Amino acid sequence: MNFNLTDEQQLVRETCRKFADNYLKPKAAEYDRSHEFPWEHIEKLSGMGMMGIVYPEEYNGAGMDYLSYAIIVEELSRGCASTGVIVCAHNSLCLSPINYFGNEEQKKKYLSRLTTGEWIGCFGITESNAGSDAAGTTTTAELKNGNWVLNGTKNFITNGGVASVNVITAVTEKGIGHKGLSFFIIEKGAPGFSVGKLEDKLGICASPTTELIFDNCEIPEGNLLGKKGDGFKIAMHTLDGGRVMIGAQALGIAQAAFDEAVAYSKERKQFNQSLSNFQAIQWMIADMATEIEAARLLVYQAAVLIGSGDRRKYSKQAAMAKLFASEMSHRVTHKALQIFGGYGYTKDYPMERYYRDARITEIYEGTSEIQRIVIASNVLG
Ligand SMILES: Cc1cc2nc3c(=O)[nH]c(=O)nc-3n(C[C@H](O)[C@H](O)[C@H](O)COP(=O)(O)OP(=O)(O)OC[C@H]3O[C@@H](n4cnc5c(N)ncnc54)[C@H](O)[C@@H]3O)c2cc1C
Repeated sequence: MNFNLTDEQQLVRETCRKFADNYLKPKAAEYDRSHEFPWEHIEKLSGMGMMGIVYPEEYNGAGMDYLSYAIIVEELSRGCASTGVIVCAHNSLCLSPINYFGNEEQKKKYLSRLTTGEWIGCFGITESNAGSDAAGTTTTAELKNGNWVLNGTKNFITNGGVASVNVITAVTEKGIGHKGLSFFIIEKGAPGFSVGKLEDKLGICASPTTELIFDNCEIPEGNLLGKKGDGFKIAMHTLDGGRVMIGAQALGIAQAAFDEAVAYSKERKQFNQSLSNFQAIQWMIADMATEIEAARLLVYQAAVLIGSGDRRKYSKQAAMAKLFASEMSHRVTHKALQIFGGYGYTKDYPMERYYRDARITEIYEGTSEIQRIVIASNVLG
């Protein structure tokens, strides 16, 4: 596979790198402390086409390729991992199912406003008893007098509360497990819809994670996304694409931690010499550099394969990219913090934030254990 970037892809990388260095990085610590949603970043990114990265220009999207998308997420996450996941959840989890499974009317109404950033999107499958196992979903949707009536609660929803468009799963036929799930589009302000608890988290603190509550929530019949009973299929298709970008997020966090650790190892002196003179530190740096490159190759390969559009071709690679990149990010941020010694443990330096932010990439959009299940089932058949 050829990863020589085209002129456009190079430009995308340079533009996002500059944006991350000039806007995201200087404010990331403050947003981490305040837990505020970084509206100023999202407004600027909207103007750059980053809220509709791979979507068709006829729906106001930027029409870029998936490798560019991965590069964008990697670079943004280098500056601020919260902004990285806000962009991922919006692009991959909300826009993708509407683009692939929505009808023309839904695309015109929702996609065209989401791609410009006028509306933010979120995606909800998780519930208190449906985490790794979507078949545990208990939120229901019943068709009554020409409207869908939804009841239940989703939890841990990224962009919850700031989203104008919520795409969520609900049971439309009981007793048949995941085959009874369907997807729906719920607009902010729909009667009976509210946002519940805002989670107080270890990392990615500027990215809101909330409950979505449906209490006899009424939405038009036309807000069914795809066919009735296709909810699980839509969720898996969406997550296969989304998890590659979580791999890119993990990669960006690791790269940020690595760059700072290398610079620090050259500046910091102990025993009358730079830390970088010690072989123990050199080996850590060598291992980190190697792992980051390996993860980048897996993430870029999976991103290129998503562009093929055939899920059978990229499901395994997407799981491998996410699994390796997220666990790599854990190991790299651990070592990078170690190179900073006690200073790495303080909030005077970004190391502790990188370490906290990296951890979630092993959990959301399918835990590492679930990625291993996907990989093994592809290998074993
Ligand atoms: C910050 C954050 C943001 C999130 N954003 C979203 C979002 O936008 N939309 C959304 O729908 N969800 C979201 N989630 C939910 C996330 O995807 C789930 O937390 C995740 O899928 C795991 O589900 P769970 O937490 O219920 O853990 P569980 O499923 O209870 O798993 C607990 C442990 O058991 C392991 N386990 C479970 N089943 C198996 C098995 N079969 N074999 C081996 N091990 C297993 C898991 O790997 C894990 O280690 C978010 C979560 C967080 C924390």
